[in-house]
Formats: sequence, structure tokens, C-alpha cells
Amino acid sequence: MIEASRAGEGFLDGGDTPAFAGCYEVAAHVAGAALEGARRIICGEALRTFQPIGGLHHARRTDAAGFCVVNDLGVLIETLRNEYGVRRIAYVDIDVHHGDGVFYEYEDDPELFVADIHESGEFLYPGTGFAHERGRGAARGTKLNLPLPPGAGDAEFLRAWAEAERFLEDAAPQFVIFQCGADGLAGDPLADLRLSSAAHAHAARRLRALAERHARGRLMAFGGGGYNLENLAAAWCAVLEALA
Ligand SMILES: [Zn+2]
Repeated sequence: MIEASRAGEGFLDGGDTPAFAGCYEVAAHVAGAALEGARRIICGEALRTFQPIGGLHHARRTDAAGFCVVNDLGVLIETLRNEYGVRRIAYVDIDVHHGDGVFYEYEDDPELFVADIHESGEFLYPGTGFAHERGRGAARGTKLNLPLPPGAGDAEFLRAWAEAERFLEDAAPQFVIFQCGADGLAGDPLADLRLSSAAHAHAARRLRALAERHARGRLMAFGGGGYNLENLAAAWCAVLEALA
């Protein structure tokens, strides 16, 4: 990856993610920002963070994927565990794409609770995240995929969210990570859900309250995807307002 980053051409790790000059350094900054956010929260210097550039949920432990050079969320989870001893972590993902890079790398991890609402993999990249995928082995039941059909809007989202919230309440996490991609809003050029920023506002408000009940308020939000600039502004401002 470092060579491809220097050369600034070709694809990373033989996959679908194009290299650009300095991509390694940029990705390292994104992951580093997440680690700095975690440090501040653990030290008590901050209660919650919102990092707009972050939440690169398609990269795997060893490979870039889906335009995600490094999975900052995975780096964060490993650091929370290994440096700070935080075990029970909730990963909540409302980006329109399934968070496969987090989901599959932790599929058999019984202490990472994943709730992922996305457009169904039948219709959209990365083609995964079906409702029957609930985690493996000892981790069975610690993952919840809630795929929505193309065209689904706020009403369908709110129904899925209520189910996610029941699941998260039972999980009683010590720390909450929120990937709040804006690409599920109506008018995104890459996907076909029709959410409004009210969905993001609701999810952020409810997740903040859940973190306050179980995790001493500790919550980190990441912007994730979004390919319509007005939608990005609306969704991320809604999240920020709910968390500030
Ligand atoms: Zn996305």
C-alpha cells in the first residue's frame, strides 16, 4: 500500500480501491483522528466526538476495499480493547451500504454488537448484510442486519431503528460507535433509499440517550459516505445538533 501511495496509481491490494498520491498518509490521519478522539473520551477530556471524515467501513484488516483505504473503525475497536480495556462495544451503522469491513472481521466476536441498517445487498454494493446473518459461533445473536428495500423512507427506517434500539438496549454496551453515512438520503447518486435528515436526527438523539444509560455517555460518531453535498450538510448537521 505504501508503494501504491507513493506512485499514486493502480489499485490498492489488488482490489477495487484506486490509489492516489498520499492515500496512505491521508488514511493514517483519518485513523489517527479516531484514536485521538478515543483518547480524549477515555481521559475525560471529551464525552462525545463527531468526525465527519471517517467511518471507512468497507476496508478489511489486511485489504483496502470499497474506496476505504484503512478501516479506521476497526483500528478504533482494537485500540479501545487493547489500550483501554473496553470490551463490550456497540457498532451502529446507518450508512446506506452494509458495513461489511466491520461486520465480517468481527462476525465471531461476542463482544462487538453490530446494528446495521442499509439498503438491501440484493440491490447495492457490497451485496451483503442479510437479516439471517446474526454472527457466528459464540457471537451468534450479537449482530443485527436490517436491510431496507430500494425506495424505503423515514417510516421504514424508524421501524428498523426501533428494532435496532431494542437490540442495543439488551447489549448494554460500554462504548458506542456510530457510522452515520448520509448516502441513504433521497437524491444520493449512488443509492436508492429516500430518507430525510430527520432519520439521522432521530438515530443520533436516541443513541446519545442509550450511551448515557449504558456507556457513561461515551459515543463516537463518524460521517461515513454521502455523495450529494446538500444531503451531507443536512444529515451531518442533524447529527451534530443531536450530539452537541
Ligand atoms: Zn456508503
